[in-house]
Amino acid sequence: MSTRLVIFGPPGAGKGTQAEKLATDLNIPTISTGDLFRSHMSEGSELGHLAASYISRGALVPDEVTVGMLRERLEAKDVHNGFLLDGFPRTLAQIDSLDDLLGEEGLSAVIELQVPDEELVDRLVKRGAESGRSDDTEDVIRNRLAVYHEQTAPVADKYRQRGQLITIDGTGSIDEIATRIREAVSRL
Ligand code: ADP
Repeated sequence: MSTRLVIFGPPGAGKGTQAEKLATDLNIPTISTGDLFRSHMSEGSELGHLAASYISRGALVPDEVTVGMLRERLEAKDVHNGFLLDGFPRTLAQIDSLDDLLGEEGLSAVIELQVPDEELVDRLVKRGAESGRSDDTEDVIRNRLAVYHEQTAPVADKYRQRGQLITIDGTGSIDEIATRIREAVSRL
């Protein structure tokens, strides 16, 4: 059976960093909706222009756009062995879309990284200064956190009810967190 994982958590929780390590370990691709949007934006595609108008405000891109983009990505051959989703699902409606896209086999597990809000804002402001990501400014960050608490946090509750949520302490060094995730995944 293939390994189908989601890495979940608030903006700045370290999903991207940990996803890269875990996906390499497991030899599966990471599918990051944020990265997919950013590559569309840098190509200047129509989808990129549309997404940019939401991302620059820290709002969610409409589901039909995001789900369509993900559906196309999941059709590629490299997802045979499984995949690690980063940034999706972010709303309860997106859970339903993912259920439809995956069919019977569903997900293996959802890994949730837990980090306190004060630390998230610090990390993201620092990242904005280094990477120049246009949505890493303090106002937009606060909006992304508000959107997370309102729309995305309920996603974790749903997977907890399904018995699929693995919660990991997302504080400490990158390697410490990676070890916690690796141990949890090895028990699957
Ligand atoms: P972060 O998790 O740090 O906020 P991401 O790179 O995952 O960063 O996402 C950046 C932005 O891309 C989000 O603020 C949102 O506007 C958009 N986005 C990413 N994934 C989704 C999604 N599943 N649904 C809607 N919008 C999304």
